[in-house]
Amino acid sequence: MTQPIFMIGARGAGKTTVGRALAQTLGYDFVDTDIYLLQTSQLSVAEIVAREGWSGFRRRETQALQNISAPNTVVATGGGVILAEENRQFMREKGQVIYLRSPASTLAHRLEDAPQEDQRPTLTGKPINEEISEVLNQREALYQEAAHFVVDGTHQPSAIVEDILDALALQIA
Ligand code: ADP
Ligand code: MG
Repeated sequence: MTQPIFMIGARGAGKTTVGRALAQTLGYDFVDTDIYLLQTSQLSVAEIVAREGWSGFRRRETQALQNISAPNTVVATGGGVILAEENRQFMREKGQVIYLRSPASTLAHRLEDAPQEDQRPTLTGKPINEEISEVLNQREALYQEAAHFVVDGTHQPSAIVEDILDALALQIA
C-alpha cells in the first residue's frame, strides 16, 4: 500500500496534465479535486463560486480532498487548496506533496492558450498576467510550506514525471 501523491501549484502549473501522466506511469489511480466537484455536484467551479462564493467552494474542496485521497492514487488539487491550514496539514500527513513550480510568465502563456473560464473563474477581476503574479506572490510561501518536494514545472510533462519519480525514489510499475 502506497501513500497518495498530491500535486499542488498555481493554475496552469500542470497539476492535471502531469498528475495524469504520473499516475499512468506508476499504475496509480488519478483523481482531480476540480473534476470530482464537477462530477459530484454537476456544477463547474464558476457556478459553485457564483452560488456559494469562494468560501463555499473552499468548503467543498476540503471535503473533496478528504473523500478522494486513497492509497495508490495521484491527486491533482486546485490552485487554492493550500490556503487552508487544514488542507496543508492533511496532505502532508497523508501523502507525498509535490509542488509544480513555474514562473508567472509561463503560467500566463498556458492560461491564455487554454483559459477554461468555467473551471478557472477570475480570482481578482484583474487581467490574467497581473492576477497570476499577484496570486503567486500571495501563495508561494504556502506552496513551499505544504510541499515535500518542489519540481521545476517548465519542462515537458514526461521529463517532469521522471523528476518526480527521482524525487520520490519510486520505481515504474
Ligand atoms: P493545472 O491543472 O495545474 O491548472 P493543467 O494541467 O490543466 O494545469 O495545464 C494547463 C495548460 O497548460 C494545459 O493547456 C496544458 O496542456 C498545459 N501544460 C501543462 N503542463 C505543461 C508542460 N509541462 N509544458 C507545456 N504545457 C503544459
Ligand atoms: Mg487542474
